[in-house]
Amino acid sequence: MSSTVLKIAVNVPLSREFDYLPPKRGAPPATGCRVRVPFGRRHEIGLVLGHAADSSLPAAKIRRVDEVIDTSPVVAAAELRLIRFTSDYYHHPIGEVVSAAMPALLRQGKALHPTVEMLVITDLGEATDIETLATRAPRQGELLEYLLDAGGNGVDAERLGEELPNWRRAAKPLFDKGLIARIETRAADFDETLGCDAQTGPALNDDQRDALATLRCSDSFGAYLIDGVTGSGKTELYLTRMQDVINRGQQVLVLAPEIGLTPQLVSRLRQRLGIQPALLHSGRTDVERLTAWRAARSGAARLVVGTRSAIFTPLKNPGLIIVDEEHDHSFKQQEGLRYSARDLAIVRAKQLDIPVILGSATPTLEMLQHCRGGNYRHIRLPVRAGGARPPSVRLVDTMRSPARDGISETLATAITSHLDAGGQALVFLNRRGFAPTLICAACGHIAECGRCDSRLTVHARSRELRCHHCGAVRPLETRCGECGETVKPLGEGTQRLEEALRTRFPEKSVTRIDSDSMQQKGAMIEALDRATHGHADILVGTQMLSKGHHFPKLTLVGIVNADQGLFGTDFRSAERMAQSIVQVAGRAGRESRPGEVLIQTAFPDHPFWSTLIDGGYEKVSAEALAERELTRWPPFTRLALIRAAAHRHNDALGFLELAKNRAMRKADDSLRILGPVDAPMARKAGRYRTQLLLQSSDRQALHSLLRELRPALEEEPAARKVRWSIDVDPIELF
Ligand code: ADP
Ligand code: ZN
Repeated sequence: MSSTVLKIAVNVPLSREFDYLPPKRGAPPATGCRVRVPFGRRHEIGLVLGHAADSSLPAAKIRRVDEVIDTSPVVAAAELRLIRFTSDYYHHPIGEVVSAAMPALLRQGKALHPTVEMLVITDLGEATDIETLATRAPRQGELLEYLLDAGGNGVDAERLGEELPNWRRAAKPLFDKGLIARIETRAADFDETLGCDAQTGPALNDDQRDALATLRCSDSFGAYLIDGVTGSGKTELYLTRMQDVINRGQQVLVLAPEIGLTPQLVSRLRQRLGIQPALLHSGRTDVERLTAWRAARSGAARLVVGTRSAIFTPLKNPGLIIVDEEHDHSFKQQEGLRYSARDLAIVRAKQLDIPVILGSATPTLEMLQHCRGGNYRHIRLPVRAGGARPPSVRLVDTMRSPARDGISETLATAITSHLDAGGQALVFLNRRGFAPTLICAACGHIAECGRCDSRLTVHARSRELRCHHCGAVRPLETRCGECGETVKPLGEGTQRLEEALRTRFPEKSVTRIDSDSMQQKGAMIEALDRATHGHADILVGTQMLSKGHHFPKLTLVGIVNADQGLFGTDFRSAERMAQSIVQVAGRAGRESRPGEVLIQTAFPDHPFWSTLIDGGYEKVSAEALAERELTRWPPFTRLALIRAAAHRHNDALGFLELAKNRAMRKADDSLRILGPVDAPMARKAGRYRTQLLLQSSDRQALHSLLRELRPALEEEPAARKVRWSIDVDPIELF
């Protein structure tokens, strides 16, 4: 059929498909194949979405694809369905969705099974006296020794870059002397064989058995929320259900938060299921990710585990999707394609007609409301499995027991007694950096970022001020930029807490875990390992410490600076604060020793505390739901946030005024439009940021409005002066 027109998704920010003609020779590429196409003056990788008999474009204007990359589809019909849904629901250009759904190498047009560059040591290299070489050229010696240790198969050059960052310079003379060689091979395929048998888990308790019966009711679509306190055995339930599915020869897709996808979780899955999981997360190289992706697609991997973007992994024979720590924010992408992997997991399960299990100790109000409405099954595990008791929770009034460098006497005494009893302590702070701000005691001047409406954060170790929003760095000042007086850090960051703890407990080991201290590869694994084996007496950290870890000896959790969420402006403040506190508190006393949680607050009489302490997360969430119903916030209404940023304030605001006018013309009674207003951070990296909030009790109405609005705004000349985006179901508003 020479008249076939190809409908192609191209990775550009336009909400449409593009028409192309197939190459002159050969059959037209099938749906799901990648092609290279001319686009303007550039060439882009595109994906065939379908075929049409003709085009609305005049024949002379339709261009021909340059090249067909795949002989058979890399994206199957089932994944295309998810991609289409994602593009429709998030009102995001399909080409960009396709691109987000593919591993980087495929996006770049590489082969599905690309060759990789391997480095090997030659016979001559093996015969070389490495020590002599190393005295003259240490880098060369190091590389040669590394390759010698690696043996005959050699080392993947991409991996090598992580171990020996500047290896290429050292390699040059070694190549010239014939001591090492380069070979191109096809990347090894994934093999799920582990070489040891699956271990059996503990016998399930009554609650777990009831829950399992519910989960086993059906192998068709159903969403199941496992609402279980930390340590209640949610993971044991997942494992049992995963085993069912894997034994049938079907595949399980597990999504975990970025921070929750720890080596602990992976090794537990490995041990208990007796197979190697295909892993997809940021710690893996592009080749490794593609290998895992291919294994999921071919069915060679029955267990696929990954973070957010793994939701798009193709599955040959899917049987079950699991979303661990459903409440975690990392499931929502906050830039570009702003999708929620948690929500897409439910959509995908429905499309595939398989069950999806979502687990959390602190479920989101969205999920709880779905359960109330009867859409999802609500499975409760109210007590800890294996006999561990829930921790006792106590408030420390910082007005009466003042905090010195963030630590009150009461907390310090508790740390001493828990450590004396052989326990471990965790001090939790909801922030990073040494001290959030640098303030001048004389004139009150606060160090601010020149490009953002944000205060700079003090990083004492590196003696720097950093902007956590745009990344700007400048040296730490000792004198005020305004009046010249001495300035001092205000408030406590994790570094400052760490130092305060070291000073107070000089004989004890203190380990800090936050995104600053964990930047080096492997640092996190090592620190967690130390903590798990009880070698760290005191752990200090941020959210990173609150996710899913199991520290057997940990008995005390101290929460300092808990007050920030009490007076938050976001309607989600209470939910979030309760989630953080309950999650981190859940680290205490997970084994036989009872746990204790101390919360430092300057407002012990605030009603939030009594609700949380007496009624737990269940009570907080029930009250928050009632309040949201009254105030008409999600999950009782739906939101979409349109953001615009520009170098000129008026450009940003004007664009949203325009959007508002268009929206008002189309809107029905269900729609409420708030704004446009300046964003909470009104300026970031030199751009003014504004936002327009659309709220509706009728989801369909909101979406049909957005469906018209998006392409219309793309056409607006004013759109060229701004960066703008639509965020459907936003989780950060204010
Ligand atoms: P969660 O995922 O809810 O935090 P886990 O499944 O990790 O809970 O279980 C917490 C701890 O309790 C683990 O050490 C686990 O092995 C143990 N555990 C879970 N279920 C049981 C059970 N039925 N009997 C004994 N120990 C159990
Ligand atoms: Zn900045």
